[in-house]
Amino acid sequence: MYTKDSFENYPIFKNIIKKYGKVNLLDPLTKTILRGHMMTYVDDLIREKKPFSLIIIDIDNFKQINDNYGHQVGDEILKLTADNIIEAVGDCGLVGRYGGDEFIIVDLVHNDYDSMHLFLETIYMGVTRNLPCGTVFRRDLAVGSVKIFVSGTIGVANFPNDADNYDDLFNKADKALYRGKMKGRNCFIIYVHEKHKDIDISKLIKEPIQNTLFNLSALFDKDCSINEKIISVIDYIKKLLKITAVYLFDENGSCFFGDDYNVGDLSAFIDENDMAAYNNINEIYGNDKRIDKFIDDYNLFSVLIGRIMFKGKCYGYIIFSDSAVQRIWQNEDMALMYFTIKLIGSEIVFNKLGLK
Ligand code: GH3
Ligand code: MG
Repeated sequence: MYTKDSFENYPIFKNIIKKYGKVNLLDPLTKTILRGHMMTYVDDLIREKKPFSLIIIDIDNFKQINDNYGHQVGDEILKLTADNIIEAVGDCGLVGRYGGDEFIIVDLVHNDYDSMHLFLETIYMGVTRNLPCGTVFRRDLAVGSVKIFVSGTIGVANFPNDADNYDDLFNKADKALYRGKMKGRNCFIIYVHEKHKDIDISKLIKEPIQNTLFNLSALFDKDCSINEKIISVIDYIKKLLKITAVYLFDENGSCFFGDDYNVGDLSAFIDENDMAAYNNINEIYGNDKRIDKFIDDYNLFSVLIGRIMFKGKCYGYIIFSDSAVQRIWQNEDMALMYFTIKLIGSEIVFNKLGLK
């Protein structure tokens, strides 16, 4: 939490407190700096040509937290997260509330890619520093008797390395943030010109789910073999969800298309809706050596598993997987999985085909 002393080295904020009091500097809920004051500070830094990184933070699926636990719990999560961000940033810079579930950090210290990477790792997981969980994200926050898993997505851009004016800088950090959301959330993206210069935020917005389901049906309606249909469906889903791979198994756990793998019985990992989403692969790791080997060989971080069922009979399994991030699977992803397993199941049954 910020105290009066926190602003000792920031004359602009010291003056605001002196003139108008602390309440006029901080957001009433999260006690982070109000957006307008943050913007003025950023403008000043740019005018004075002082290097800094602009970090935009957006909590993942925050609406769901409000919907599941109520707005008071949502408020509490915002407050706790704000405190954790302030603590993580420490003397390196300042934290403001941009609006809703979005925060911004002006970081005066981590001005190159490598030091920023190390800093953000501590926020998430501290892989390199062996922390048990992130200081801010990928952790449970306790509100009363409930524990809520909180993750967030972060985009970063640097002044003057990436931009020489406010609009451009903000736009680049925002592009990085959107890229992170599209990659599956729960991750950070540091803007790198060669990689991210062509990102068009308006094109990253997902098509409506009804269009997706229509497109999938159209692929199944094509006049070709079931294998060809499945290959084009897998290709479509991979591109749409920006995931690393889609795997298909028969009812005994033998993998189709590619390597000669048998992962054994996958039914133990499926719930009554014929699906299960694992954001963190550790939730299933360690139960069966065959699955562990598959996870290791393909470097899986998170999986969505679906059972191909039709009229009470199992015909196999399908896995959507990501190797780059611990993806937070969304309701739309699960709807897509459900539709896919039903389509494949019906295709098999109506055409009296096997998967081979
Ligand atoms: P995403 O992972 O894409 O960021 O999904 P999201 O649900 O976090 O994003 P979205 O922008 O849809 O939801 C943000 C929600 O934050 C919507 C709004 O109701 C809620 N919100 C905004 N300000 C406050 C607040 O002060 N308190 C609470 N409890 N909720 C707030
Ligand atoms: Mg959000």
